[in-house]
Amino acid sequence: MKPPPSAMAAMTKGVKDILKRGLSAPICLTWEITYGCNLSCIHCLSASGLKDPRELKTRQALELLDTFKEMGIFYVNIGGGEPTIRRDFLEILRHANSIGIGVKFSTNGSFIDDGFARELSGFSYTDVQISIDGPDRQSNDLIRGAGSFDRALKAMDTLQRRNGITFKISAVATRNNVHQLDRFYELADFYRAELRVTRLRPSGRGSQVFADLNPSAEENVALYQWLRAHPDVLTGDSFFHLSPLGTQLAGMNICGAGRVVCLVDPIGDVYACPFTIHETFRAGNISDPGGFREIWKNSELFNSMRKAQGPNSCETCVAYQSCQGGCISTKFFTGTSLDGPDPDCVLGKAKPPSRSDEVPLADLSHSRRVSLKIRSNSTLAN
Ligand code: SF4
Ligand code: SF4
Repeated sequence: MKPPPSAMAAMTKGVKDILKRGLSAPICLTWEITYGCNLSCIHCLSASGLKDPRELKTRQALELLDTFKEMGIFYVNIGGGEPTIRRDFLEILRHANSIGIGVKFSTNGSFIDDGFARELSGFSYTDVQISIDGPDRQSNDLIRGAGSFDRALKAMDTLQRRNGITFKISAVATRNNVHQLDRFYELADFYRAELRVTRLRPSGRGSQVFADLNPSAEENVALYQWLRAHPDVLTGDSFFHLSPLGTQLAGMNICGAGRVVCLVDPIGDVYACPFTIHETFRAGNISDPGGFREIWKNSELFNSMRKAQGPNSCETCVAYQSCQGGCISTKFFTGTSLDGPDPDCVLGKAKPPSRSDEVPLADLSHSRRVSLKIRSNSTLAN
């Protein structure tokens, strides 16, 4: 495995202040290219399943890549939905590659066969990330649906063992799998893959299962210790709310929403981050005058997020520099005040939701009906 990206770990207050004021282009841009998906994972952050008839056409998608290039964006995270179900997916990758934009795409692996792997091996700047949520069939399929683990493993075999293509394995940490992290690590080691573990957020269908699947306070402590002991595991900077437990975890350790992070969704709507798909955090649409560039640079929403100070009730916290009040998305979709501590504040300062009777609803309009049987069985894996 590669050495840890530790350079970001000790980011100074001055650098954080610059990042919070926003940059001329996002450091971490996620572009979800379809809401269509063959799976129905119970915690899907974008509540995907059904394609939206308004999804960007091929020409619009390629033009958007050109805009990214002109803005100096050198790297895009592509997701969905399941991006490989788009017929023009390889054309999108080819165009990104030809103009020098690196792509990391997340997939459930269902449609990765030898032909697809051979195409991928021709791209210099393309990185594959295969999502699983358990290191074995039973624990994974409770979250991602029957057959999904076998399909993901087949994709890993196809990529690495038959075609020599490296990839990342990505898992969302939940109450069901935080005690299985060593086994995820072993699986990644077997495939010579990097492991990425990220935080569960209550966005999309995650809003429906957050209370059941979010790790407990004790599990979060164990998770922090495990991440500290495994600095080569990537986290997408998503656990900075755990940094007050001790030494800061690697990453920027700030909420980058609208500052250095944003999301373009399949119909071209631009949100503050991939976990804030809600009208409150929608900054515009790429078809608006000036397009994506104008939204990033001048939208009212992003500018106000860049001017915002940290939550009032966190200002006097001894750990403020390493946590800064935590994740906006997690606060918002649990009905917690954005001006208060993260609901998983490790110093025990979380406040009960102030709007419990009116928690903002996630958009589930692209969702297929998800089996409640899977959901209720999910606790059996503990
Ligand atoms: S809202 Fe949460 S998930 Fe989004 S950038 Fe901020 S910390 Fe990260
Ligand atoms: S009080 Fe606020 S800044 Fe301090 S640890 Fe809790 S969420 Fe983080």
